[in-house]
Amino acid sequence: MSIKELIKKEEKRQQDNLSLIASENHTSKAVREAVGSVLMNKYAEGYPGKRYYGGNQIIDQVELEAISSAKKIFKAEHANVQPYSGTPANLAIYAGLIALGDTVMGMDLSHGGHLSHGHKVSLSGKSYKFVQYGVNPETGLLDYEEIRRMARIFKPKLIVCGATAYPREIDFKRFAEIAHEVGAYCLADISHIAGLVVGGVHQSPVPYCDVVMTTTHKTLRGPRGAIILCKKELADKIDKAVFPGIQGGPHENVIAGKAICFEEAAKPAFRTYAKQIVKNSQRLADTLQQLGITICSGGTDTHLILVDLSSIGVTGKEAETALEKVGIVVNKNMIPGDTRSPFDPSGIRLGVPAVTTRGMKELEMFKLAGLINRVVREPGSRVVLESVKREVATLCRKFPVPK
Ligand SMILES: *Cc1c(COP(=O)(O)O)cnc(C)c1O
Repeated sequence: MSIKELIKKEEKRQQDNLSLIASENHTSKAVREAVGSVLMNKYAEGYPGKRYYGGNQIIDQVELEAISSAKKIFKAEHANVQPYSGTPANLAIYAGLIALGDTVMGMDLSHGGHLSHGHKVSLSGKSYKFVQYGVNPETGLLDYEEIRRMARIFKPKLIVCGATAYPREIDFKRFAEIAHEVGAYCLADISHIAGLVVGGVHQSPVPYCDVVMTTTHKTLRGPRGAIILCKKELADKIDKAVFPGIQGGPHENVIAGKAICFEEAAKPAFRTYAKQIVKNSQRLADTLQQLGITICSGGTDTHLILVDLSSIGVTGKEAETALEKVGIVVNKNMIPGDTRSPFDPSGIRLGVPAVTTRGMKELEMFKLAGLINRVVREPGSRVVLESVKREVATLCRKFPVPK
């Protein structure tokens, strides 16, 4: 099959399925056009006004526009819009601020942290002495006093806060206070929640943390990529770490897509979107709970929900597979204190950014919870799967992916 045909097929798959993957979204046509534009033909190593190649007059304006709107929507002093993605952006931040082998604190992967927060299979974990903190096993919440106690013992040079599977609001101010108390930098990785921060429904780390990193393709609803925001004093270190530190030529087509996504996020409609995300997520979590399903930490303040399936007698992998059969796409996920393996953990992670982009509201979340409940309780029943599949198809037709 040709790539062109495969793209058509994938377009249809996205329309005919509901993505409840917390890190996914549906971008606007304007974003996709920018990324697919001729800007990709240009080499622009360096920064606006200081390039290693000629012909960058227009490219410079594109990148300056992205920088200025990033600073505006996040109220940041400095923005670097060149990082290719979240993982290399984190590596650039570590490289720019600390020395190889330094001690760093980050959140444990099985508690909701990201691979690039010091997991042993990641270059981050191999290059620095990471000490991992987690959530309180009883409450499922971050225990700031415990994190403070660890910081005083281990004396890290940097503390990473932010997560990939933590459903609650993070107190970045508190994290920054703990880091600064022990003389460490504080990095907030808001890859998942950036859209909620810009939309005003989650505390912003920008006033408190030294450096803030976010991907642009999750709740922010832009192209795949990342940006780094920081205080003026650190701007030079961060810029040098991104280029020439770990990257070469910036992807100016993607940077244009980022600029468009920031413009879209600055509009009042985006605040409404962010609010609706949280309302939807809470309705989905509440309804699942009413149906007897365990929700880690007892609920959500964000776009995501961590479901503990252990009491139902189905594994995360089995649930993911059964849900995919009916057109609901989720990912299996470790839950805090999980005794199972990452390949077949005890939970699934649900996120509502993509279905909220499709226009779904609380009523549809109520319906979705019922559908998910039926599937995870009887993943082997063909009758259940057939019936749920028809209902998912109806929802997909009623809420098309924006063109
Ligand atoms: C998604 C994510 C990243 C990594 O982003 P990639 O673009 O996939 O490399 C980093 N940190 C957190 C917290 C994330 O959720």
